[in-house]
Amino acid sequence: MRAHVRANCEDRPGVYRMTSSDGEIVYVGKSKRVRTRLLSYFRCGPAEKGSRIVRDATTIEWEYTPSEFAALLAELRLIKKLRPRFNVAMKRDARHFAFIKVTKGPANKLLVVRGAGDESADVYYGPYHGAQRVNDAVRELNDALGLRDCASDRKMHFADQPELFEIAPRTPGCIRHEIRKCLGPCVGACTVNEYGSRVRMARAFLEGVDDAPLEGLRSEMLASSERMEFERAAALRDKLGRLESLREQFIRFRFAVETLSFLYEVPGHAGDDRVYLIRRGRVRAERPAPKSPAERAEIRALADDVFSGVEYEGAAVPTHEIDELLLLSSWFRRFPSELERTETHKVARRHRRSA
Ligand code: SF4
Repeated sequence: MRAHVRANCEDRPGVYRMTSSDGEIVYVGKSKRVRTRLLSYFRCGPAEKGSRIVRDATTIEWEYTPSEFAALLAELRLIKKLRPRFNVAMKRDARHFAFIKVTKGPANKLLVVRGAGDESADVYYGPYHGAQRVNDAVRELNDALGLRDCASDRKMHFADQPELFEIAPRTPGCIRHEIRKCLGPCVGACTVNEYGSRVRMARAFLEGVDDAPLEGLRSEMLASSERMEFERAAALRDKLGRLESLREQFIRFRFAVETLSFLYEVPGHAGDDRVYLIRRGRVRAERPAPKSPAERAEIRALADDVFSGVEYEGAAVPTHEIDELLLLSSWFRRFPSELERTETHKVARRHRRSA
């Protein structure tokens, strides 16, 4: 493998993969100097990861890319597609950002996670700055909406589950239900629908695009006070106040993905310059950089399409977009001068102002 690299590999940006004798791709990597990077594997000490990868591999292949940025994107896409066993989860910028995910399964719960997500949720909310602050805010949101925060594998028994009275204990063994901070889906204290409607409220709240959760509580509060249930109305008023201030907090903590919306022109190896159309932290299109007025007009038309298409503008980020969002944010954080190569499309500018 070393002789193959020495004889054939050029020192320019690219991605490479290492394959074992039975055809398994064991590792994918990238470098802005592929030859130098690949030769470094053969100088690793026996205990180093590079050495273990090379021991398992029998073939090395590489492809050149126009630039280091293109190599990063290609590496991310290959890792997601091939899931090589020596590649750990992409953790770029993970320490800077937290996301909130709504777990799958019965009695969903809100979980704060750092960095890139996995497929255990369809949608993540964020990204937010400051995992600890977000954790505190989520705890309050759980309390206000009565959502559970216990271990994910805790067995749930909803009130409308037929087997409940045969097997569920009547005492929850959890203070949160006793002090009315959890609806108690573990002890049959609520139905699937009752709990589900609170989860939907939490989602709408985190999406930040409609006032339904707050409006719902507001009309409940008014109805209680009309019925002269003043204690309940007061409790609802407090809850409403807490949620309003939480909403402000979530907006403050959120990193504005709208700032990652622009056209980014990257000089490439031997004049292979590219332009990337990036919207909300994701590359939506890539083209050779325009060289003539006609090509420029083509890119402008493409940009009109990319930036004008209807797109969800709230805090929800589909799981499959998170890694790329983190990668782009990390790239511009490491190389802020690259922002000088970007140009904000007029529609993206409007989205930013309204964000
Ligand atoms: S009351 Fe039950 S469901 Fe709610 S947090 Fe406690 S253990 Fe979990």
